[in-house]
Amino acid sequence: MEQGAYNFPCFDLTYLTNTKIKHYVGLMQQKYILHWQHTIQNSTKLTLFNTFKNDYTPPPPPPYLGLTSKLSKRKEQVKFRICNHKLRIETGRYDQITRVNRLCPICESKQVEEESRFLIYCNKYSIVRNKFYKKK
Ligand SMILES: [Zn+2]
Repeated sequence: MEQGAYNFPCFDLTYLTNTKIKHYVGLMQQKYILHWQHTIQNSTKLTLFNTFKNDYTPPPPPPYLGLTSKLSKRKEQVKFRICNHKLRIETGRYDQITRVNRLCPICESKQVEEESRFLIYCNKYSIVRNKFYKKK
């Protein structure tokens, strides 16, 4: 058998023991975690995600997914977390606008419309935001 991309030694199934299997699984997990960390830390798109999650932890899913049982709302939470949304920080990317010029089109702050501005700071969303926090 040829050596693969993971640089594992040749597998001879005759001599494959449970101990060796555990060892190889551990190596693959370590490689995956390193790849995951490198991808997350070097992505300009996953800035918000990187703010909240900078270490790899396997399931269970993050607690915020338990806030609602509605699948559609859970999808929206996940989409927001991975920056799959319509805020200018993302749509500006499609329009090839530099990051610093992806300004909030709703208010006159001349600030980049990114996730924390949308959730916390933009004054145009304050009424909706206040209603949301009163529900909690
Ligand atoms: Zn704004």
